[in-house]
Amino acid sequence: MKYYNSIIETIGDTPLVKLSHVTKGIPGTILVKLEYFNPGNSMKDRMALKMIEDAEKEGLLKPGGTIIEGTSGNTGMGLALAAIAKGYKCIFTLADKQSQEKIDILKAVGAEVYVCPTNVSSDDPRSYYSVAKKLNQDIPNSFYPNQYDNLSNKLAHYESTGPEIWRDTDGKITHYAAGVGTGGSMCGVSQYLKEHNPEVVTVGIDTYGSVFKKYKETGQFDQNEIYPYLTEGIGEDILPKNVEFDLIDHFVKVTDKDGAIMTRRLAREEGMFVGWSCGSAVHGALEYAKEHLTDDDVMVIIMPDHGTRYLGKVYNDNWMKDHGFLEGRNFATARQIVS
Ligand code: PMP
Repeated sequence: MKYYNSIIETIGDTPLVKLSHVTKGIPGTILVKLEYFNPGNSMKDRMALKMIEDAEKEGLLKPGGTIIEGTSGNTGMGLALAAIAKGYKCIFTLADKQSQEKIDILKAVGAEVYVCPTNVSSDDPRSYYSVAKKLNQDIPNSFYPNQYDNLSNKLAHYESTGPEIWRDTDGKITHYAAGVGTGGSMCGVSQYLKEHNPEVVTVGIDTYGSVFKKYKETGQFDQNEIYPYLTEGIGEDILPKNVEFDLIDHFVKVTDKDGAIMTRRLAREEGMFVGWSCGSAVHGALEYAKEHLTDDDVMVIIMPDHGTRYLGKVYNDNWMKDHGFLEGRNFATARQIVS
């Protein structure tokens, strides 16, 4: 018999798939690592499990404990799955810009959810960072993983995602691209790849409204770079400890619109029903590839999550129209038969 003892044993070993259509005219081999094959449908399953197991080892998380985290949804899902397998409770805080699907998914796996305002600074007591910290102080036997500064996040990708990419490309990878949020998936993989081949070039995808690119290029934390944007999961108004700027060679910024349009193209033209930050990562990585890749190069782009979490947003024509994002052939058709 071949079976797993628990859902968390199915985390990892996700497939690499070549992009064939959205890459027309772009040199090199462009591969995407489809992290929605994880049981929680995102790459965050990897780091969620690692943060919990490391906390158990350090005695920070004890039997019957409560896990409290600020999350854009995917980390919450990963934590919830690991918590179910291991017998912990979960409370999550989210910013209200996150899709309703993400909130409903967390409730479906038994978590308690606090929805907090998006447009307040991170140190405002109403922000999802502050609410998570306060709950952690108030609730006995609770553990706050803090995915931004908890280096188990980066380590999870150093120990699993990086080695899988190296193995599956036979060490031929020349470029790695990833959206940067907490920085775990970019920097953990980058560290592993660069240790095996220092020539590997890494490209971080950032959003307009986020501090990363400017900070990398000038060393300045520029408040003017910070303003609200719509893309979920990437870009930040803080500098998380998991972002190690030396491990990110270049940053490319992508608009909400370009990311959204590429997300829909990946579904229609490649059959990959992926999340919004996947479209951003591919759009940004291809902009870089157009200028810098040769036909011998092999680029891997990480695709963090699944399209179901964005049915009410990038995959919804009315939402796209309302935001001025829908153009020509991106219209979907649904015909209503009236009885
Ligand atoms: N995309 C999505 C949808 C995410 O949830 C996240 C996590 N914030 C990222 C990209 C960025 O990944 P990381 O936190 O590893 O930088």
